[in-house]
Amino acid sequence: MKAMVVKRPKERLILEERERPTLGPGQALIKVHACGVCHSDLHALLGDFPFAKFPLVLGHEVAGVVEAFGEGVNWPKVGTRVGMPWLYSACGHCPACLKGDEVLCPEMQVTGVTVDGGYAEYMQAPAAYLTPIPDELTFEEAAPLMCAGLTVYNALVNAGFKPGQKVAVIGLGGLGHMAVAYAKAMGGRVAAVSSSSAKEAQAKMLGAERFIDTGSVGVEGGLKAWDGGADIVLATAPNAKLATEAIKGLGADGVVVAIGVMSEPIEASAMELISGRKKLIGSPSGSRKDLRNALEIAAKLGVRAQVSTYGLTQANEVLEKMQKGELQGRAVLVPR
Ligand SMILES: [Zn+2]
Ligand SMILES: [Zn+2]
Repeated sequence: MKAMVVKRPKERLILEERERPTLGPGQALIKVHACGVCHSDLHALLGDFPFAKFPLVLGHEVAGVVEAFGEGVNWPKVGTRVGMPWLYSACGHCPACLKGDEVLCPEMQVTGVTVDGGYAEYMQAPAAYLTPIPDELTFEEAAPLMCAGLTVYNALVNAGFKPGQKVAVIGLGGLGHMAVAYAKAMGGRVAAVSSSSAKEAQAKMLGAERFIDTGSVGVEGGLKAWDGGADIVLATAPNAKLATEAIKGLGADGVVVAIGVMSEPIEASAMELISGRKKLIGSPSGSRKDLRNALEIAAKLGVRAQVSTYGLTQANEVLEKMQKGELQGRAVLVPR
């Protein structure tokens, strides 16, 4: 099988011809039909994750079909359409796992980071950690939901979102454009915040009622002018300054959720938090249950990523475009 392999951090991916993975007990072999390219892939490639294991096959937005399974597996059957997200496996017995919060497990394994992921024709995964793909979704539509979709959906849930609330999304990249689509589909009023005025049309098409151009109005002013401020801000862009300003643009009881990884700290004054009873939280991807919910909502309410498709062997080109900020929506690699 073909696999795009990172031998060492910061090096280009190399196309390798490998044996298909052999299956241990409890494992399934997935024939990959599509794998999304996430910003975390770039972080892994650049050596930003000390827990990453090299050589490595990146990719944690996997959509494919079960081709075979190992001993002791009675679900899913061969031919089932399944997805594999960031969460590859968890210990099952720590306090977080026992609460169903397996994505906080200190022993968790991460697809495409601590174990080989989906930039390949086949990958192996623990059968119990696969999620069925609803019939309404194609493989290319399902792949970006495995991380980007799940992460933004779960950020809304963790922020206590209720229909009718004002949700501002900072950044309109892979995560951000999905955040606008989910928040709108789930009954929110949505504003998109971006430094690129060229993104206004995209934001409106995705359902945003307001576009805040950080170059002209600024985040704080733009949010306050929106009927007194946002209820929820999803900070998807890797820009701590904008997230810091957004705290000032929240309405009472508002919450800023950090979901894009930023190198600088987000700062909040105690007075700002106290007087508006505001919150600043972070939100990671999600559990198997969260993923099933995110997929169901996407299938039923028509949430779809804006997908551009590339061949598996174009992975280097896609990652370079991502690093330069030249990708729109979500890029998906398709083995062919
Ligand atoms: Zn991701
Ligand atoms: Zn655990």
